[in-house]
Amino acid sequence: MIKFVDLDWQHRLLRESLEQAFYSVFESNSFIGGSQVDALESEFARLHHCKYGVGTKSGTDALVVALRALNIGAGDEVIVPAMTFFATAEAVCIVGATPVFVDVEPITLGIEPTLAETAITEKTKAIILVHLHGWPVPLAPFLAIAQKHNLALVEDCAQAHGASENGHLVGSRTQVACFSFFPGKNIGALGDSGMVITNHQKLAETVRILANHGRQEKYLHTMVGYNARINEMQAAFINVKLPYMHTWNDKRQSLAAYYNRQLADMPLQLPPAFDEHRLPCFHLYVIHCSSQAVRDNLQAFLEEKEIATGIHYPVPLHLQPAFRQFSCQPMPVAEKAASCILSLPIYPGMKIEQQDYVIEQIKQFFSQ
Ligand SMILES: *Cc1c(COP(=O)(O)O)cnc(C)c1O
Repeated sequence: MIKFVDLDWQHRLLRESLEQAFYSVFESNSFIGGSQVDALESEFARLHHCKYGVGTKSGTDALVVALRALNIGAGDEVIVPAMTFFATAEAVCIVGATPVFVDVEPITLGIEPTLAETAITEKTKAIILVHLHGWPVPLAPFLAIAQKHNLALVEDCAQAHGASENGHLVGSRTQVACFSFFPGKNIGALGDSGMVITNHQKLAETVRILANHGRQEKYLHTMVGYNARINEMQAAFINVKLPYMHTWNDKRQSLAAYYNRQLADMPLQLPPAFDEHRLPCFHLYVIHCSSQAVRDNLQAFLEEKEIATGIHYPVPLHLQPAFRQFSCQPMPVAEKAASCILSLPIYPGMKIEQQDYVIEQIKQFFSQ
């Protein structure tokens, strides 16, 4: 039986440290803010050569408070890729703005820069870049577009901890970047939490105030905000795991390279070769099948062989019932991807025998 996301190996490795982290917070009696939150925020910012980090209750909350801090709300438009997790556009709606969906690039599924520029109107305030599946979206065209049209760039790095382009970690070169520590992400808490990073002092301050009930001082509220703070216990658990970020990503990259080599002759579109110019962190290893029928059959075949797989994502955002009111043109690339992609198991603790078994079964499927 091969699970899709297996956290057991992490918890075996870190059990004692996680237990110590639990007891140290438990005994401190401070469960909301505290030294663990402070340590995580400064370490996460330092890792990204960013000045400020503000912990949040989830990755979704990170996006919400970041958009609010950029003064985005009713009447504003925010450009988002059609292929991403729901929360990217949900956050735009939560702040009262309108998501404008844009199609993506065919293989790594990042938002397509030319189409993004075409979607800009006088109401556009920001573009959200999503480093989907851990593939860093090449930043240069977006920096140029943002400058030309005076827009903010927000990075949704929920799937991309430690991914980099030319040595720059994702999240380190735009106005503001949002991370998630949902348990299954590359760095996960033992529950929900997230983080906003930025180099702008005012933005960081506003994010912190918004995430804490709009509170300037103890009983003085200057804004209507949210209860969107990270809690001390989750911060303590993340502090245990964060030092492993690069080691675990290296492992994911080796696993991905091995899949790429071993599956090269299959009738599949595999993730492209990668190097330090564009270094994905393989939150997911996503293959494209030639059709929906092949994808569905392959998934069913693997399930029968006790190999769990996933689809990220089967319904593009512009076709989600909840976003019906933002109807737009067809998004052929996102729609085709949604019907043909399949995510194979990948996690740092995956054993070579397990990966070989997945590969063998895929070969078996295509030799029938
Ligand atoms: C997981 C995820 C989020 C939301 O993060 P949560 O911590 O689950 O709220 C946002 N965007 C993307 C692309 C994600 O994968």
